[in-house]
Amino acid sequence: LKAVLIIADGMADRPLKELDWKTPLEAARKPSLNQIAKAGICGIMDPISPGLPPGSDTATLAVLGYDALKVYSGRGAFEAIGCGVNVLRGDVAFRCNFATVGNNLVVLDRRAGRISNEDASKLAESLRKTKLEKSSNAVFIFKNTIQHRAVLVIRGPELSTDVSDSDPEKVGEKVLETKPLDESPEAALTAEILKKLMQKFHEVLMQHPVNKERVRRGLPPANIILCRGAGAVPNIKSLSQIYNIRAVCVGATPLIRGVCKTAGMKLIDVKGATGTPQTDFMAKAKATIQALKTNDFVLLHVKATDVASHDGNIRQKIELIEKIDSMLGYMLDNIDVDVTYLAVTADHTTSSVTGDHEGDPVPIAITGPYVRCDDVEKYDERACAKGGLNRIRGMDLMPILMNLIGKTKKFGA
Ligand SMILES: [Zn+2]
Repeated sequence: LKAVLIIADGMADRPLKELDWKTPLEAARKPSLNQIAKAGICGIMDPISPGLPPGSDTATLAVLGYDALKVYSGRGAFEAIGCGVNVLRGDVAFRCNFATVGNNLVVLDRRAGRISNEDASKLAESLRKTKLEKSSNAVFIFKNTIQHRAVLVIRGPELSTDVSDSDPEKVGEKVLETKPLDESPEAALTAEILKKLMQKFHEVLMQHPVNKERVRRGLPPANIILCRGAGAVPNIKSLSQIYNIRAVCVGATPLIRGVCKTAGMKLIDVKGATGTPQTDFMAKAKATIQALKTNDFVLLHVKATDVASHDGNIRQKIELIEKIDSMLGYMLDNIDVDVTYLAVTADHTTSSVTGDHEGDPVPIAITGPYVRCDDVEKYDERACAKGGLNRIRGMDLMPILMNLIGKTKKFGA
């Protein structure tokens, strides 16, 4: 027996005036999602706990069965791991942006005009030659990823994630000074290392020929690196240790890939999977079906629905739900439903009105052999609330799925 968990990022929503007080899921044409709800057992799920708006990282940790409130240790490490950087226990990782500052370090563009990968790669190559002071006993890894995005990992004997961001996250404000967030010598040391490194990076970038050329071409120079989201690798057991399963992730978003890798899952690269609304849904479905042949558990993650919600683009959100529905239709036609469980959910609610993650529960439906199917016939926020799973927490989902595929152990005699 096998299980596929499909997570549509931020797919759940609130009723919208523009849709006659329906949610995008309620308004979308989605025969396959409805088929899954009808054949399966449904419910609603609080990703972490009722009313708490989760991040995509904490929510994904939770639906993989971990107690996110206890094990979460910041976003930076997941992001770096998801970008292929080997982050070790004790390292401190940050998300970074190539940005543009003017006089007095006032931020003019947080993305340096969405700098090209080519320019960012050349700049990163020079930045990697920077030396940290010997007395700090630390080294660093710096890697640019897509456009203005990059990751920084500081490695040393006594570091801490309790340091503040240098990124003000607003244009027109000054770059912030990195400060320790507690009294520990580790936090003081980490803040000091980061502060000095950022100064050196700034000096290198100000003189860099790539930036001089950008200015000549009328483009904003990428003359500073902004850091945020200090994080460390959480101390968790892998899914294979907990459930004795082979687990893989089909997804393109670095943050989610980082969470999955940390949970010991294999990552599958899919050509055409981009983590954007233009992603190749069918390629992901095919990769999932292929992965099922040699694995017990596949997490299929789709980011696009969250992107549309953050943009407040209701029409696009509905279209994307319909594309996900076609993807699920293909999967239903091409997997052996007698030995495979399909669970469909969202990692959180993203409101198309606020453009933010919200603390409302998300729908969940599980179909497969011998599930106690209920009377729910439609897959949406309100219909699923009447289902047989009732209301569960994100961290309940994995035990439920693993029990269905016979991978849980009895508690007691
Ligand atoms: Zn999310």
